[in-house]
Amino acid sequence: MTQVIIVGAGAVGVCCAHYLRRKGFSVTVLERRAIGAACSAGNAGLIVPSHVIPLAAPGVVSQGLKWLFRRDSPFYIRPRLDPALWSWVWRFTRNCNAKTVAGSIPILHRLLQQSAQLFDDLYKEQNQAYFYRKNGLLMVYRLDKYRQALQSEADTASTLGIEVDHLDEAALRRLEPQAPVNAAGAFYYRNDAHLDPARFVTFLAETLKQDGVVFHENTEVQRLEKQDGQVRGVHTSQGYFEADMVVIAGGSWSPGLTEKQALHLPVEAGKGYSVTLDQPRFKPEIPMILSEEKATITPLADQIRFAGTLELSGLDDSINRKRFASVVAVAPQYLPDFKLDTLDPKQIWSGFRPCTPDGLPIIGRSRKYRNLLAATGHAMLGITLAPVTGMLISELAAESANEDSTTLAACSPLRFSH
Ligand SMILES: Cc1cc2nc3c(=O)[nH]c(=O)nc-3n(C[C@H](O)[C@H](O)[C@H](O)COP(=O)(O)OP(=O)(O)OC[C@H]3O[C@@H](n4cnc5c(N)ncnc54)[C@H](O)[C@@H]3O)c2cc1C
Repeated sequence: MTQVIIVGAGAVGVCCAHYLRRKGFSVTVLERRAIGAACSAGNAGLIVPSHVIPLAAPGVVSQGLKWLFRRDSPFYIRPRLDPALWSWVWRFTRNCNAKTVAGSIPILHRLLQQSAQLFDDLYKEQNQAYFYRKNGLLMVYRLDKYRQALQSEADTASTLGIEVDHLDEAALRRLEPQAPVNAAGAFYYRNDAHLDPARFVTFLAETLKQDGVVFHENTEVQRLEKQDGQVRGVHTSQGYFEADMVVIAGGSWSPGLTEKQALHLPVEAGKGYSVTLDQPRFKPEIPMILSEEKATITPLADQIRFAGTLELSGLDDSINRKRFASVVAVAPQYLPDFKLDTLDPKQIWSGFRPCTPDGLPIIGRSRKYRNLLAATGHAMLGITLAPVTGMLISELAAESANEDSTTLAACSPLRFSH
């Protein structure tokens, strides 16, 4: 049986394991820490087929430049002498144009729709054993200039057949009588969903163990062993593992796992924060994105989670309390009944979103080593896109994917090789 090694047990690695196992591969997952403990743990858990506009979009650069020097802004680049960062920023800026975005939207839309369907299927198959709710998503605004921007996104979504309704202030308050939202209005995407991401990843991993997938935690992959145009195995902190195929699903750490000649993965870590409060007195049923603050509020089983900010500060996991405090501070303005007690810094979680410079994920294989695959670069959509990524990786591994299809060509790592 073909032996596949997956590097990284985040949402993406575990979903790759799931679909590879289904196709009959023998699968081993190597994780340097614990299953699902990195970016896939404390994120907002939104499953957003509505999010068809990539991160690299017109207006992002000018908005980002305005925010760049504010210490409490939701977006920040820490200046540093790192050629990889500046090459990434240069590529990102070049991609922030209407033509590139118009080309990316149908690709993202296809991936998002497929993944949303796979989430529904997975949830049914797993006998609804983890928290998953299809309650939609509110994109909330207070100022008219944000309503206009959201209206334009909603128009794009509507042309693709995505259901979205505009709610004025009164309709928004009626929607959640138990936890009325204080805002000028919202766009309501009815088919979005949310889940508890850590529970999803650990539950899926547990079911895979019962199905023969082997997980090694505390096992750091140090380098790949290559010979005669093939990857033969991986050297790790726990010894050598032979492989017929290797899938890099190391999130923001992926670029360090291969040299550029084998696989060029221009991924920058976009650090974000969250805080999860237990047993809130009032909790909305529908998650929301606060457009002005670029922050999210997600209701979980008996918790509520606030998340936000994007800092390009490398793989530095220090917590910028000031920046995150500004995210949490706005919550009571939207949910007036919601009283926040003082925030203990130990409660703040941080994670690194693996961001590509064009806003599309990297799903594909190396040109030099055909048995070396990559599944990373999902930025703010890594939970949403994990199932479809796993499915596509399994098709690539089984040689049953159409690698010239528009979707796979657009997501291939080879797009960065020239
Ligand atoms: C604040 C915040 C909110 C977010 N909200 C959402 C949301 O609502 N919806 C959504 O879809 N996405 C969201 N995201 C993005 C999402 O969390 C990420 O895109 C996703 O978790 C990435 O998954 P991954 O498996 O690629 O990476 P990770 O979860 O980071 O997993 C990579 C794994 O690889 C392991 N690894 C790395 N190097 C090695 C090595 N050398 N050897 C062995 N193992 C290694 C790491 O330890 C890690 O466990 C959010 C992110 C943040 C920060």
